[in-house]
Amino acid sequence: MIVVIDGPSGSGKSSTAREVAARSGFYFLDSGAFYRCFTFAHQRDGSDTDRFMEKLSGYRVGGRFENGEFRISLDGEDVTREIRDSRVTSGVSRIAEITAVRARVNELLREVAMSNDVIADGRDLGTAVFPDADLKFFMVADLETRTQRRIKQLEEMGLSGDPGEIRNNLEYRDRIDSGREADPLRQAEDAILIDTSELEFEQQVDLILAKIKEIKNRR
Ligand code: C5P
Repeated sequence: MIVVIDGPSGSGKSSTAREVAARSGFYFLDSGAFYRCFTFAHQRDGSDTDRFMEKLSGYRVGGRFENGEFRISLDGEDVTREIRDSRVTSGVSRIAEITAVRARVNELLREVAMSNDVIADGRDLGTAVFPDADLKFFMVADLETRTQRRIKQLEEMGLSGDPGEIRNNLEYRDRIDSGREADPLRQAEDAILIDTSELEFEQQVDLILAKIKEIKNRR
């Protein structure tokens, strides 16, 4: 079974998907982590974009859902924390615009979904990566709510962030992610819209779990 949650940055997709996974036994797949990982690789190698493109298929990127957390490695090194760095966050949307990068990430995502019940979060999962997903959600929230959530998320990881900078980055990424040519951020026609500005976290989680149960009961 494949459940996807798409939506703009900071709308609560990852935390909701992680909790649904913990309660349902599904595998949580964080698609943004793959884009962040390739961005980190690009920045680490300090290479120009042509050189990066040549190396693209050679990077060994591996994701795994372990102890309730999605971890990611690059060439055997765990970079779960490094990919949350503000430099990666600022650069990721530009890397995610590149069609070849998207194709590589999609390949890795589909591999995981082949052998697991998956709940995945991203921008284009319902429209491009898993158009036949069993359940699709599109999560939105107002900018202020999203800014506060990002600050809290960073704090939980022992990182800090300037609110103004975080707000600007969210707006900037929304603009690039929605405006790019290759698989932009868009609500799939058959996706259920959830506005999390007004909802308690538990309500979001329960709503998705209830829908999963409905589908399972129908089978
Ligand atoms: O979800 P997260 O904020 O970690 O995603 C980081 C970036 O990766 C997004 O801003 C977007 O540019 C890109 N992304 C994407 N398509 C996805 C998931 C993430 O383009 N399915």
